Amino acid sequence: MEMCVSSPVILWFRRDLRLIDQPMVSAAAALGRPVIPVFILDPQTEALGAAAKWRLGLAVQAFAGHLATLGLRLVLRRGEALQVLQDLMTETSAGAEKGAGFKGAVFWSRAYDPASKSRDTAVKARLRAMGAHVQSFPGFLLHEPWTVQTGTGGFYRVYTPFWKAVAARDPAACLPAPIALPGPADWPASERLSDWNMGSAMQRGAAVCEAHQHVGEAAALARLDRFLGSGIQRYHSQRDFPAEPATSGLSENLTYGEISPRQIWAAGRRAMLEGAAGAEHFLKELVWREFAWHLMHHTPQIAEQNWRPDWQSFGWRGDNPQAMAWRRGMTGEPFVDAAMREMYVTGKMHNRARMIVASYLTKHLLTHWKLGMAWFADCLTDWDPAANAMGWQWVAGTGPDASPFFRVFNPAGQAEKFDGDARYRKAWIAELSRQPCASALSYFDAVPIGWGLSPQNRYPMPIVDLAEGRARALKAYRERNT
Ligand code: FAD
Repeated sequence: MEMCVSSPVILWFRRDLRLIDQPMVSAAAALGRPVIPVFILDPQTEALGAAAKWRLGLAVQAFAGHLATLGLRLVLRRGEALQVLQDLMTETSAGAEKGAGFKGAVFWSRAYDPASKSRDTAVKARLRAMGAHVQSFPGFLLHEPWTVQTGTGGFYRVYTPFWKAVAARDPAACLPAPIALPGPADWPASERLSDWNMGSAMQRGAAVCEAHQHVGEAAALARLDRFLGSGIQRYHSQRDFPAEPATSGLSENLTYGEISPRQIWAAGRRAMLEGAAGAEHFLKELVWREFAWHLMHHTPQIAEQNWRPDWQSFGWRGDNPQAMAWRRGMTGEPFVDAAMREMYVTGKMHNRARMIVASYLTKHLLTHWKLGMAWFADCLTDWDPAANAMGWQWVAGTGPDASPFFRVFNPAGQAEKFDGDARYRKAWIAELSRQPCASALSYFDAVPIGWGLSPQNRYPMPIVDLAEGRARALKAYRERNT
């Protein structure tokens, strides 16, 4: 493909809103040609869940600010990605080479979910046909999914051998941020982020949730540093206790590409070599994310249907009043409700709590995991389609390397074990304290008024007896194929 030295490189940013360890940016910097960073609000992005879309808006705003410090702009456009890129090519070639057509390049970082892959494949083919140099880059994962293979050349379906394979190889070294990135003489027009209303579906939640977000590349790096400075030492022993700030909190930043997994891997490896107690365990968790994305690449149906076909005929319940109580943190089961409220207020939920609420919904309430997955997709600011789908199918027992069907988490027993002093439950359930704390009260400021919730109301009785719910689930699960 012919490239012209003065033609620009259009950098299509998606979930890679950073400059350090950003292969497409480094490649563009090496070309020394003007870059035009662009973010597109395409139909796929429009369709994101309420919290994820709102948080993405914050990420875009922060990244635009970051680029501005380098004298660059983030061009914002709304529409089908192909059309927007074609328009930009037309507009920018007019300045550089009158009548010559677009001789520049279009770069992006690869995505691995099925919708992005089919969009990107189509865009690449069309733009190449128009004469553009189009190239996609790694950066979202430690390794490209097709490069981690079993001895027989397939992909891993079980986590432990996958971990061993990943632990035995180093990812490519992290790339520094470019020293200089020239912009074009004339910038294409940009829409205004405020006109996009990316937080419109959040309603009252946005004002409450914002205090819990750590937005942007600098915030992500600071978070990693803080974790390496203290948290990682006690990660192994404390990571299961939801009231303890013992985990990294980096899922939020990884979701928007504000930090790369390679940066985290390199830092974790260094900590491990320096003898940090929890470092290997931390790396293993990071590799769960990798496992989820490799699975999504190889088996894209993971977000749509039971990964194990022998579950197809299982009679999950669809939406029901108990599932509604689950969504609203009103099941009368304090650990479950605390977790659901934590998610509504902060956009995140502790990993142990995610497992407990997912088990409660799919087992005690026998409700379809897809319904829970969809609610998470609407409420999480660290929403990640692969980790979410794998997490739900793991708990439900329908997924790869899943938890056995007879493992039914007992929320009361889990509370005793992992929240023995009730700090977590008190932090999120106002009705359980005479003098509720600010976090517990903030839930009532975040939820829609139409839910009719108030901290003065009585806390509900359990909507299901735990022993009965467990027995019913085990019976249904055992009988599923008989
Ligand atoms: P840390 O403990 O500090 O771990 C470091 C990183 O490792 C995380 O940031 C994350 O990228 C990765 N990681 C850790 N645990 C897991 C795991 N079990 N699966 C995959 N990756 C993991 N994670 C998301 O990022 N987005 C989701 O939408 C999501 N949905 C989930 C749904 C269910 C039902 C379950 C059981 C888990 C889900 N997870 C999801 C995984 C996990 O709960 C979060 O990644 C974790 O709580 C993030 O907190 P942290 O960044 O402090 O993690």
